[in-house]
Amino acid sequence: MGVIILSTIVVTGGAGFIGSHLCEALLRRGDKVINIDNFNDFYDPQIKKDNVKETIEYIKKNNIAPSMYIVKEGDIRDLEFLRSVFEEHAVDAIVHLAAYAGVRPSIQNPVLYTSVNINGTVNMLEICKEFSIKNFVFASSSSVYGNNKKVPFSEDDIVDYPISPYAATKKAGELMCHTYHTLYDINVACLRFFTVYGPRQRPDLAIHKFTRLITEGKSIPYYGDGTTERDYTYIDDIIDGITKAISWAGEGNGKFEVFNLGESNTISLSRMVKTIQETTGKKANLDRLPMQPGDVDRTNADITKAKQILGYNPTMDFEEGIKKFANWFYKNKT
Ligand code: NAD
Repeated sequence: MGVIILSTIVVTGGAGFIGSHLCEALLRRGDKVINIDNFNDFYDPQIKKDNVKETIEYIKKNNIAPSMYIVKEGDIRDLEFLRSVFEEHAVDAIVHLAAYAGVRPSIQNPVLYTSVNINGTVNMLEICKEFSIKNFVFASSSSVYGNNKKVPFSEDDIVDYPISPYAATKKAGELMCHTYHTLYDINVACLRFFTVYGPRQRPDLAIHKFTRLITEGKSIPYYGDGTTERDYTYIDDIIDGITKAISWAGEGNGKFEVFNLGESNTISLSRMVKTIQETTGKKANLDRLPMQPGDVDRTNADITKAKQILGYNPTMDFEEGIKKFANWFYKNKT
C-alpha cells in the first residue's frame, strides 16, 4: 500500500526546540514534513542534531514511512537554496520558525538578527509568492509588546515601541507578512508566542539555564527583585496552537490574523525559582543583578482571540509543566 499524505508542510527551524516538537506532531497526524534548518551555533548544534535524531526515532517507533520526514540543511537567507527545495517538493504550507531568538544577544548583534529574522522571513514569503503557497504561519513573539502598560496584552494593542532589536525584527516580520498577504493573497497566521518551556527547551532560556545551574550548585543570575513576571507556555499547548493555526490558514481565503499564544497566567521570577527548587530538591544561590536593558517587566497574554477563532485551549499547570521539564532534563543531562 502506498503512503497516504495529508499535506506537505515545510517547517523552518525544525531542528530547534519548538520546531522539533512541531515536526513530530505533524508526522503524527499524517503530514509529510520538510525541515529546513542550518544547525547554526546560537547554541550547541549537537543539541539540534539530537533533536532531529529523536524525530527519526519517533518515526521508526510509530511505523511512519521514512520518506515522510526530509531534512534540508541550509540557510533561509539563501534564496537559491530555498528555490531548489521547493522545486523538488510540492508544498501546501509553511511554518516559519527559523530565527535568531533571544532578547539580550540581539542587542550585541542587531545586524545578524536583522539579516536572519527580517531578510530570511522575506525570502520565505518570496517563496510563497513564487510557488503559489497560500498557507503561511509565522513565529512572532510576545516581545513585540515591549513594556506595554496595559495588561493582559491583546492583539489590537499598539506595538510600535519595541525595546530590543529582536522584538523589532519580529514586528518587522509581521509587517512583511501583512504586505505579502495583501499583494499575493497568502493566508497568514502570525503567532505571538509567550515564553515557551518544556522538554528540549533552549539552553539559554531561564528555566533551562536555572535548572542546570541549580543542580550543579552554581549561582543563578537573578535580575531585579524577583517581581518581574512571565506568561510561561508549555510546549504541548504551543504545538496545539500552531497546528490549529495551520488548519485555520488552510481553510478559505483572504485570511490574515495575529494571535497571542500564551497561557494567560503570569508567574513571577521568584515563584519560578521556588518551583525549580521544590522540583529539584536543591536550593538556589542568587547572584542579584540589576534589570537588563531590553528585558520587559511583564508579559501576559490575552488569549480570547486564539480561543475563539482557533479553538486554542492551553491546559498545562506551571508546577506540573516544570516537573515534566525536570524529568526530561535529568534524563538528558550529560
Ligand atoms: P531555536 O533556536 O531552538 O530554533 C530555531 C531554529 O532555527 C534553530 O534550529 C536554528 O538552527 C534555525 N535557524 C536559525 N537561523 C537559521 C537560518 N538562517 N536558516 C535556517 N535555519 C535557521 O528556537 P525556538 O525557541 O524553538 O524558537 C522558534 C521560533 O519561535 C523562533 O522564531 C523564535 O523567535 C520564536 N519564539 C520562541 C519563543 C520561546 O520561548 N522559545 C518565544 C517567542 C517566540
